[in-house]
Order: sequence, then structure tokens, then C-alpha cells
Amino acid sequence: MSKDKYEIASRPDNDDYLRFIPLGGLDEVGMNCALMECNGSMLMVDCGYTFPESESYGVDYILPDWSYVMDNLDRLDGVLLTHGHQDHIGALPYFLQEVDVPLYSGEFTLKMVESQLKEHHLHDKVDMFPISTDEMLEIGPFQIEFVHVNHSVPNARSISLNTPVGRYIFTGDWKIDQMPLYEPVLDMQTFADFGRDGVRAVFGDSTNAESEGFSNSEYEVFEGISNVADDTEGRLIVAQFSSNLHRLDNLMELAHRHDRKVLLMGRSIRDNVELAIEEGYLNLPDENITIKPHQLDDFPANRVMIICTGSQAEPRAAMTRMAYGDHHTVTLNEEDTVVLSARVIPGNERGIQQMLDELTRRGATVVTAKQAPIHGSGHAKPDELKILLNLTQPDSLVPVHGHYRMRKKHAELAEDVGVPRQHVIENGDVLQFTSDDTRVVGSVNPGRVLVDGANVGDLESVALRDRAKLADAGIIVAFVVMDKSAGELAAKPELIQRGLMGKESDTDIDEMLSRAADAAEQGILQLSDNARRDFNEVDDAIQRSVRKFFRRRIDRKPVVIPVIHEL
Ligand SMILES: [Zn+2]
Ligand SMILES: [Zn+2]
Repeated sequence: MSKDKYEIASRPDNDDYLRFIPLGGLDEVGMNCALMECNGSMLMVDCGYTFPESESYGVDYILPDWSYVMDNLDRLDGVLLTHGHQDHIGALPYFLQEVDVPLYSGEFTLKMVESQLKEHHLHDKVDMFPISTDEMLEIGPFQIEFVHVNHSVPNARSISLNTPVGRYIFTGDWKIDQMPLYEPVLDMQTFADFGRDGVRAVFGDSTNAESEGFSNSEYEVFEGISNVADDTEGRLIVAQFSSNLHRLDNLMELAHRHDRKVLLMGRSIRDNVELAIEEGYLNLPDENITIKPHQLDDFPANRVMIICTGSQAEPRAAMTRMAYGDHHTVTLNEEDTVVLSARVIPGNERGIQQMLDELTRRGATVVTAKQAPIHGSGHAKPDELKILLNLTQPDSLVPVHGHYRMRKKHAELAEDVGVPRQHVIENGDVLQFTSDDTRVVGSVNPGRVLVDGANVGDLESVALRDRAKLADAGIIVAFVVMDKSAGELAAKPELIQRGLMGKESDTDIDEMLSRAADAAEQGILQLSDNARRDFNEVDDAIQRSVRKFFRRRIDRKPVVIPVIHEL
């Protein structure tokens, strides 16, 4: 395939360069994936997916479009991962089905990747190299260091890439927790060292740039939920993300101190707890603290804490089922207190609101982060963003991770603290750094790749496009018999419909279909003699004319499927 399709200025001949190419994660929260290319060597940083908006007709995930990587595969030398959240590692199984490339990250993150690759039977085929925070990894012209940061999953790292054109810091998702419970504080010393030596650019997480102040420490969250527990006579039910192992650790300790047994609900929570215990990231305060569902009735309500999935009102998750009275073990009552210890992911607001209403209808007391400090964000807020910029003192800030508004805000914050340059770029932009210049030199024009069960295709794939139209416009199948050698219709087209008309009487529908068939016939007759011998042309003509007919008559654009028989 021609590389011209990307419209990128050619690489500098006699100068070192670094190119930063985000393939996703901008204009969305999720699907983080970026490329760093230096003097011909390319690394991928993170490889996440995102979930579709509600109107996606059966699409499960959206993956980054890595066609540029595929077209430059000989340059790709590795994939670096910041941490184990799905929006950073979720697309790996799909990528690694096509590409053989080593992975580098913290040990626990790679364990999370491995358990995911197992589901796709890929774990034996992939080379993974755990890198500690005091190692220096060299790949081509890159000297790579992983730096400890705080986040809502253990083992989160920023990545520093030292190159012939300076040092670049990719923050990944991060926050500063000055009173973390289960890990060290973000490694300010190392960031300050980088700053003193000179940093060319920071590619920084913008998720919370529009917020204010400083994010809650995990310690404050502990206190916040403790206070709720103090006031609760009945069962304490906490919904949270299954990957937030610090929070899980926190909740176990809290249960222990309040003399409550813990019931874990949701497969992902149980799996992650098991993995975290194995890897030493979670220490149960008491071996017998967890109980099984059938033991629930053996303990009085004030001795029970349930930790469950469903903080985003996911339809099949435990909390959602309890809310809608459809859980096999737990039926809510007036004594129960439900704590939603998680952020609301944009797009889920409505589902969560409805779930909270249902929980309240069942008599449960509902506590969200609006009423009490029961959740701490995993992403840096403006005060933290400023601290990191002041520590690293980069020449440029390139805001990543977040919608345009958030990235713009992040750029303004950088300007406020004196960062000389800010580059608010778009997905696909090729931002090139040379010794004396920084600018966008083109775009790889990425699309989005949709995963629908076992099928992977792009947004324009016919199946999905048709599914979308079918849902709102119905379908017309047009049977046409052509005498190919003569290039003539052998009979009048016959049309059948589904989902397009329903309220009308049968005679009206027949009448309408007959007129549409006339339109199809006219469409075919308007083609030249030669075009009529080409069934692709005939196919197009039928689709165009029938769709136009229904648009004019009933303002609908049905999916038209011509079935052409040759005589
Ligand atoms: Zn994250
Ligand atoms: Zn993220």
C-alpha cells in the first residue's frame, strides 16, 4: 500500500527527530494508544480499547486503527505499557493476533495483560519483559525508564524516553497520593531530576484538567467510607471498579476494623483479588474475612459488607441486578446502605441515575461521592498537574487522554505555570520534534475499528452500517432479472419490505412497493447500454433509485438489497 495516503512530510534526512503520533485517547476517554518514532525506530505506548456509545448496534469494543503501524511494521520495536487498565491494554489481544512484538511494563501490569491474553489463547506466543523502576531499558535510539506514579490500579508508571532529540515523558494515568495506603508516593524525586536535566516535552493525562484542586488521597477515602460504616446498622454494600485493588485492599481493612465479613460479588472482582493476593498486592487482614454467598444468612446484617461490580450500572453486574430486584442472593431492604465508590464514566450518567433511583425505591440508603468523600479520583487534578509541570519543567506540553475541552484546559494550566509551548493536537496528528523545531507535519488519519463479538471491522463495514440503518429505516429486497447479453430487464423488478412500513394497510403497502419497483426500473433504464451489462452498476442504480423513492415519499432511507438474477 502506498505510504502517500498518510500525507506526512518526509522524515528529516540529516537531523535527529522524534515523532509523536496519538492513534487514540484524544477526543475520548479511553482507547489510549500512541506511537513514538525516533530516527526510524518506533515504539507503541499503550494499546487500549474503548466502549461504544449506547447506539452501536451490537458493537462490543472500539479499537484504535493501527493501519499506519501495519504499513511500517519493520520499524516497530516494542510496546510499552503504563498500567493495566482496559483503556490502556484492552486492545492488545487484537493487536498481538496480527503482530509479533515484545511488551515492556511493570511486573503486575504484565500479569494483568497475561490473564487477558489467556482468554485469547495468546499468552504463550507473546514475549513480555518486566521492567523495574530502577532499570534503564535501551531500544534503538531510546533510553527508557519507568517511573512510579499513583493511580487507581497498582503498578502504574509514567514512561521517560531519552533520545538524541531530548527527553520525553509520557505520564500515563497518574495522580499524587501523599497518603497512599499500599504503595509509595509518586516518585517526585525522579521527575525533579528529569526537570533539572531538561525535558523536551510532557505528554500528559488531561482527564481531570477541568476539575479543581487536588484529588482525594486513598487515606481520605478510607476515612470517608469508615464514617459511613459507623452510621450503618445494616449491610454495607459498596460498588466499585474491579481493577481498583488499592480500594479493595482499603475496603477489606475497613471491614476488618468494623468487624464485618466480606462477600465479593462479580467475577472480575474475585479474579482480580485472587491475582492481587498471588502477586502480593493485596494482603487480607484476616484469612477468614471473606465469605461465600451461601454463608450470607449466617451473619447478622451489621456484620456484613458486600463489595460488588456495577458502579457504572452495567446491565449484568451485581449492583445493577440488586437495584432491579433481579439478584439471586441479595434482596435489598430498608436497612441496607449502598456506597457508590467510583467515578461516573462519561456516557453512563443516565444508566447510573436510573440505578440509583431503583436502589432508593427499594429502601436502601444511597451514598455517592457527592455526599461524602467515599471516592478518590485516579487522575491528577489541576493542582497536581501544575506540580508535575513545575517538577519536570518541559519545553512543551502535549495534552493527551481526554476530550478537547480537557486538553485545552490542561494547555492553559501549562501556560499559567510558564511552560513555553503547548500543542493541542488531534488523533492521528504527526507531531515532529527536531533539534530546533516542533510542529505537526501531517496526519495518519486514523479511523476506529469496531469489534462485534468475533468480527473486527472498520466503521464503514457494510454489516454495521446496514445494522444501523435497519434499526431505524427497515429493509427492501429488490429482485431483478436481467438479460445480461442484451443488457435488458427481463421482467419488472419485484420488491419486498421488512420494518419499513407497518401501520399502512396491505393494499397501501403493495401499491407503494409497486411504485418503488417502477422507480427501480426507471433507474436501470437510465443507465447506458454498457452499464446495464455490468451488474455492479445495476446494483447501484437499484439502490439509488429505490432509496430516493422512499426518501421522497415517506422520508425514510431503507437499506436496499438488490438480488440480481441473470437470464
Ligand atoms: Zn488508568
Ligand atoms: Zn486511562
